[in-house]
Amino acid sequence: MSASHDIHHHPDEALLLAYAAGTADEATSLVVATHMHFCVLCRMQGRTLESLGGAMLDELTPAPLAGDALQNTLARLDQVTPYERPRRAASRDGTPAVLRTYLGGDLRDVRWRRMGPRLSFVELFRRRDVTVRLLRGVPGADSGAHSHAGAELTLVLKGGYTDVTGNYGPGDFQIADAGLVHNTVADPGEDCINLSVTHGALRFEKLLQKIAGPFFGF
Ligand SMILES: [Zn+2]
Repeated sequence: MSASHDIHHHPDEALLLAYAAGTADEATSLVVATHMHFCVLCRMQGRTLESLGGAMLDELTPAPLAGDALQNTLARLDQVTPYERPRRAASRDGTPAVLRTYLGGDLRDVRWRRMGPRLSFVELFRRRDVTVRLLRGVPGADSGAHSHAGAELTLVLKGGYTDVTGNYGPGDFQIADAGLVHNTVADPGEDCINLSVTHGALRFEKLLQKIAGPFFGF
């Protein structure tokens, strides 16, 4: 799975910096890391930020250590059993490795939960008011006009969609602020599959979706 078109939409600098510094929450880290699977530009920028952070740490004045600190550390190392990374079969459909950790396998093996004839989803995890899901729409499917209680981060994995802010294809990253009201419509061609991080509940405009949303945990 790689971006077959140029990536036009990237995480902003604040997100990249939080990711590089290790201060981003788990959901944000997952969606930024998955974007980096597609985007060489952000991978490079992430590395630059990491090394800048490292250089700043080098500037700090070292604190004095206890006289036996080195000996104690070496003694403890002897007691550590080396960690062996569990072997995992390679992806058969190019699913990014960081995402496979959460899926327990490949994108093509996901067991989708249907929300009507055109949309389906699967929830990956929740941490307080943050929910991470995969969303899938057949060509022409629309999410229904909605706004957000908090920011919504969306990364396109396959296919594409269009909303009032533009067109998004594989690897593209959208940051929708709480104020944005938008209706995402899946582009023609293949099904659109997105990785989505939402903060708080979605606020649908239409009555039917207002009622249906909470049933599916949206
Ligand atoms: Zn990027």
